[in-house]
Amino acid sequence: MSGSPIWHPFTQHGLGEPIPLVARGEGAALFTADGERVIDAISSWWVTTHGHCHPRIMAAIASQAEKLDQVIFAGWTHEPAEEVARGLLGIMPPALTRVFFSDSGSTSVEVALKMALGFWRNRGEERHRILVLEHGYHGDTVGGMSVGARGVFNQAYAPLLFDVGTIPFPGDDPQPSYDALEAACAAGAAAFILEPLVLGAAGMLMYPPAVLAEFAAICRRHGVLLIADEVMTGWGRTGTLLACEQAGVVPDILCLSKGLTGGAVPLAVTLASEPIYQAHLSPDRARMFFHSSSYTANPLACAAAAANLTIWREEPVLERVALLADRQAGQLARMAASSIVENPRQLGTITAFEVRAPVSGYLSDFAPRLMAFCRERGVLLRPLGNTVYVMPPYCVGEADLDTIYSTIEAGIASLS
Ligand SMILES: *Cc1c(COP(=O)(O)O)cnc(C)c1O
Repeated sequence: MSGSPIWHPFTQHGLGEPIPLVARGEGAALFTADGERVIDAISSWWVTTHGHCHPRIMAAIASQAEKLDQVIFAGWTHEPAEEVARGLLGIMPPALTRVFFSDSGSTSVEVALKMALGFWRNRGEERHRILVLEHGYHGDTVGGMSVGARGVFNQAYAPLLFDVGTIPFPGDDPQPSYDALEAACAAGAAAFILEPLVLGAAGMLMYPPAVLAEFAAICRRHGVLLIADEVMTGWGRTGTLLACEQAGVVPDILCLSKGLTGGAVPLAVTLASEPIYQAHLSPDRARMFFHSSSYTANPLACAAAAANLTIWREEPVLERVALLADRQAGQLARMAASSIVENPRQLGTITAFEVRAPVSGYLSDFAPRLMAFCRERGVLLRPLGNTVYVMPPYCVGEADLDTIYSTIEAGIASLS
């Protein structure tokens, strides 16, 4: 064996692609061990909201590290977790009254699915079918893959995945999606899980708030629980604290992770409405919610999340988001003038477009080639197939944003 023994996620080591060694992060930039500055155009895979190493978050972790590192969370509690839970209830929709901690977006989804099934079982109703939105992504655990799109990335594990009802992604005419949801709800379903307004891993597919509102209304009419997976869209990413807000929708269950700690350390929460909690509440231990992971509500992670909540209360985060959205709109308009840029779209701090293939077969390695081109020029980008997207930390400066887009422009020109 030569080199590092590390087996990286979503990485084909057989291609021998270089793996940069990152030593430091600050604001919108990463610095390699060689001292090279790299602009983080994708917020380190959608997690970094305010910027790398935000001083308040770093200080909160350091200070917590002097007091309490970890404690069992079954039947015990600690102040950082209490502070996060109280803080969340202060800014999330009032109908979401209960906070369940876990440690990643995937686990927050597993928890949501188990809460939904536990709710129906404890109420003595036979409902276990899960409805999903076509092209969705909800994580790489077996439950997450089951409710997500099927493809080459989970084909090998298909025998493990449970059956779901798939609602077609809403096109220009969303009526067929409404009809399918109506029929699936009428046939009996436990819950409908979706990514509100933007399907990230599908290639930043976007659909309008009115469609989300209608989805929620249909679920409500049939008593089907709505699970909003805001793991990517939450924390200002789409221009508002939650994407659901833009549709006036309050889900029954809400999944949050990525930006929950500002993107600094792993933590997730699944928020539930009171009826879901009440369905598990009983003197009977057999009705409790059977879920835990060792690091549930880890105090260091909770301290980071509490600091994130303080930043949201005391710093003009949504103003920064609005400014970034504005600047992104200008850059996207410039890109859209190119004849090979198709379907330019934006929601809040996310921009995306497709690159049209000038020759057949070209797209198969377009993404890794553009990624390498940008990497060589100090920009971290990770296109999804022929979809190019930009999703920087909110603190990114105008000059860095210019560099991101001009590098993409040069990359597309040189590769086409
Ligand atoms: C990233 C993501 C997940 C999975 O989160 P992890 O922390 O990577 O497990 C789930 N749902 C959505 C919408 C995501 O974007």
